[in-house]
Amino acid sequence: KGAISFKDVHFAYDQARPILKGISFDVPAGKTVAVVGPSGAGKSTLSRLLYRFYDIQSGTITIDGQDIRTVTQKSLRSVIGMVPQDTVLFNDTVAYNIRYGRTSASDSEVFAAAEVAQIAHFIEALPEGFDTKVGERGLKLSGGEKQRVAIARTILKAPPILILDEATSALDTTTEREIQTALDVVSKNRTTLVIAHRLSTVIGADEIIVLKSGEIAERGTHAALLERN
Ligand code: ADP
Ligand code: ADP
Repeated sequence: KGAISFKDVHFAYDQARPILKGISFDVPAGKTVAVVGPSGAGKSTLSRLLYRFYDIQSGTITIDGQDIRTVTQKSLRSVIGMVPQDTVLFNDTVAYNIRYGRTSASDSEVFAAAEVAQIAHFIEALPEGFDTKVGERGLKLSGGEKQRVAIARTILKAPPILILDEATSALDTTTEREIQTALDVVSKNRTTLVIAHRLSTVIGADEIIVLKSGEIAERGTHAALLERN
């Protein structure tokens, strides 16, 4: 479930400057596709369009064959889980922040044992006092801890689609590796769109798309791209 399809997508924030110039690619259900490329290429814009923060000027974006223009943003948010680069937490407890966004539909879902263990693991890894408020005078969380909260929140929502938008790029190398391992577990068997800066962080993706100036410059598996370059 959750197959994504971009077909000849054109988009500009401002008519005078096209950002995406005819982008077509699919993320088959349960697979992982990574979009890499230089900063400013339009990578994050792709994820914003999928979420309908903005509407495209031409082309189509579908989820399971349905044009997302016919879907409300609310229902899109119930099928898409996003782990952003910088997680902004509510001025409340870690537990509250993890539970936030859990829909009534996902409340009744049975979570896979591995996922429940994963959530427990994230919570355990947080510092003492995670039931006190996160914030200026409350609990101080590191970047890695905040990302764990964001991932735990996303797992609990159990969305069929995951967007990982530079989810580890704000972290130091050791923390990045830890969070990457957690994300690999989370994205297994889920339709996943990864937005990344470096090819080395998306080795396991089923397909890698190299975006340059709003166009697909290259695509293939990690091995195929390395061979050609
Ligand atoms: P990437 O994720 O590849 O770094 P983005 O998709 O964030 O690139 O941005 C692509 C281009 O769109 C950049 O030139 C950026 O300045 C521009 N851009 C991003 N967001 C907006 C916005 N809200 N309004 C106008 N221009 C924007
Ligand atoms: P949740 O689904 O957990 O309730 P929200 O629906 O409020 O979360 O937001 C989904 C995610 O989208 C959040 O992680 C938020 O940081 C991110 N987000 C919000 N605005 C933008 C934007 N303009 N571009 C990219 N990501 C955004």
